[in-house]
Amino acid sequence: DAKAISDLVASRLRDVADFPKPGVVFKDITPLLGDADAFGDVVRALAARHTGSVEGLDGLDAVAGVEARGFIIGAALALELGVGFVPVRKAGKLPGETVQRTYDLEYGTATIEVHADAVTAGQRVLLVDDVLATGGTAIAAWDLLSDCGADVVELATVVELAFLGGREALGERAVHSLHVVG
Ligand code: AMP
Repeated sequence: DAKAISDLVASRLRDVADFPKPGVVFKDITPLLGDADAFGDVVRALAARHTGSVEGLDGLDAVAGVEARGFIIGAALALELGVGFVPVRKAGKLPGETVQRTYDLEYGTATIEVHADAVTAGQRVLLVDDVLATGGTAIAAWDLLSDCGADVVELATVVELAFLGGREALGERAVHSLHVVG
């Protein structure tokens, strides 16, 4: 159930203080990834919402994951669900024609992109990342996929840092997190 999977995630997270800079507590998922049983349980828990148990969330056409840790969770989830995977990358990495979004960071801006032909109009896409923090990255990724014509059904994350207000920032965009901190 939800409590058990939240506790499992908590038990396989490593808090790293002052990474990548002073004052940030980094939520490291590598212990989770290194534990096949826990990784499998997490992927199956994320997949379960999209196989008919929750109305309106099934019938996915693709899973989109945000570079870099969203690739790891997202690719496993896509295979579990039997759909393709769409990488949302930092600018300059994808070889083909791309569609971009630029968003604000604490200092400066960041640009992410997808291949222009990665999704077709009306496709139902699940967006995935490991951690929801301020939501800036997720909003940019969601809107980028929407720009491409996708119908983004939900943002799925393993960890949500509620004290950073990402869920509120996402507004109408639906969020599902396995483990909420703060
Ligand atoms: P956000 O502030 O929601 O745009 O987060 C930016 C990106 O950095 C997301 O892809 C998160 O996975 C990652 N991130 C932000 N804060 C943390 C944190 N405290 N621990 C681990 N990853 C983080």
